[in-house]
Amino acid sequence: MASVKFIGIFLAITTLIASPIKANIFSGLKSNGGGTCMACTIFTGLWRQIMQVNDMNSTEAIDYFLDLFPEPWHEALEVLEPFIIEKYTGLLNSNATPDVACYTAGYCVVDPGYHYCNLWPVPEEGMEMAVKNAKATYNTEPVVNLCDPDGDNFTINPTMRGFDWRGQDCAENNSDIYPGRLPINSDRDFDSNCNGIWGVNPDTGNAYEDELCGDQENYGIIYIGDSIGAHFHIPPDWLRAEALSPDLYTNLTYIALNELDWPHMSWGTGFVNSTWPVTINSPTNSLYWRLRNRNLCNHRDYQNLAFNGARSFTVMDSVPSMHRDDGNDKPAIVIYAEFGNDICRSHSGDISEMTTPQYFHDSVIETLDYLETRLPAKSHVFLTGLVNGTFLYSILKGRFHPIGELNSDVTYDNIYNYFSCMQTVCPAWTNTNTTEQNIATDYARILSGVLMDIASTANYTRFDIHYLPCPLDYGINEWTGELWELIEPVDGLHPSKHGQDMFAQVAWEILTAEFADILGPENPNNAKIIELFGDQGGH
Ligand code: CA
Repeated sequence: MASVKFIGIFLAITTLIASPIKANIFSGLKSNGGGTCMACTIFTGLWRQIMQVNDMNSTEAIDYFLDLFPEPWHEALEVLEPFIIEKYTGLLNSNATPDVACYTAGYCVVDPGYHYCNLWPVPEEGMEMAVKNAKATYNTEPVVNLCDPDGDNFTINPTMRGFDWRGQDCAENNSDIYPGRLPINSDRDFDSNCNGIWGVNPDTGNAYEDELCGDQENYGIIYIGDSIGAHFHIPPDWLRAEALSPDLYTNLTYIALNELDWPHMSWGTGFVNSTWPVTINSPTNSLYWRLRNRNLCNHRDYQNLAFNGARSFTVMDSVPSMHRDDGNDKPAIVIYAEFGNDICRSHSGDISEMTTPQYFHDSVIETLDYLETRLPAKSHVFLTGLVNGTFLYSILKGRFHPIGELNSDVTYDNIYNYFSCMQTVCPAWTNTNTTEQNIATDYARILSGVLMDIASTANYTRFDIHYLPCPLDYGINEWTGELWELIEPVDGLHPSKHGQDMFAQVAWEILTAEFADILGPENPNNAKIIELFGDQGGH
């Protein structure tokens, strides 16, 4: 069956798009062919550029592209290659734009009440006529929607998330994945809290844990939030024909299994400064890292419960998976940060589809009520304000998207219009209508106000609650580089690694300035801990 085969193709080569669909970050994606249409359009454009850059014909370009993939992806793609070539060769060789090609091939459709969407410039004769002409020429058969979610086996149980997300399991040996990390020493079985501080001081007979950590404010950090907290990131070189190389896809399986998220580099719980396949020159920077460096007894005590598409009323899908028990564990600093999906959920920026303030309030309270049953006493919860999405377009307007760099033909205006037309990503903010953007931002401020109210009025016994302004609001004024550097190049929506660093920097400045009493002083035993325990056994 053609449709089954194509599910396989797009499953494999559209990790970059299909996975976020599954994860709900590209909210909606049902209109006009949805994710299949988007995948077809982007890959048709990319294959064209491979032909152009390498002076290849269409078959060579497809072959070249599929050969970039490691096993087991490559084997699956090889089987499907003849079918791709049969289906695409004519259209790739034609003058049809990628948009026209994908409507012609049937992967994009015009649903009732909608119109043609285009990522590349509209052909002179218009989309409708161009598609009609191409269909007459290429005699393609219409296909069904190929992005049937049931065809995607990449749903990951949040409880299966590994050490990128939480550092609790000190029995895990990560040294083969992150070179330079020490294998976990079996002696450390005695290290019940996994912070790498264990054993007894032979001179005093006291546990090192008590001597070195006992008088300190010790915390684990627990992050509850969305794709910003998980650090959603699609490597931009995946869309640059001239940059494609096998190295780029070496760890595709790993990336896919991490849901296209990079929590180990996130502003809340990051602990590395770069990883394959992309090296980014910026220091390790996160609230966890700073909390840990302030007091090495906090080492490895981080949990990132964020997931793509999370909203106030869906975060409880992951919160119960946290590891924390009153009586056994140290208190937690909880960052609650739903930055925008309660807004983005709405199609076309329609307020009627956004989370109402009352429902938002009740959902936050439900989560807090749950935390009251799980968190150790003396914990602290920070409710983070929503993002001002109006910044995005004002920053990216007129710039070229990675897929449009080669021929200077796709700008972020085109991308945003396309997202808006497809009713995907975050139509309330990823559109070019500044009036609609501002309406959404005003609504976000209302929801931030709800968080402020809760922070000042709600009472719990095991934790206190504080409001943390969205770090972007301050950070955008502090950032000394180009503002576009703060935004993910591919999706044009999320904070980049630089943006994540900025979030961590600003949030830490606020925490140390206004909540120094919570954080406590630096641990004077840090040097002693390093002397005795080295790097404490990796993360
Ligand atoms: Ca310990």
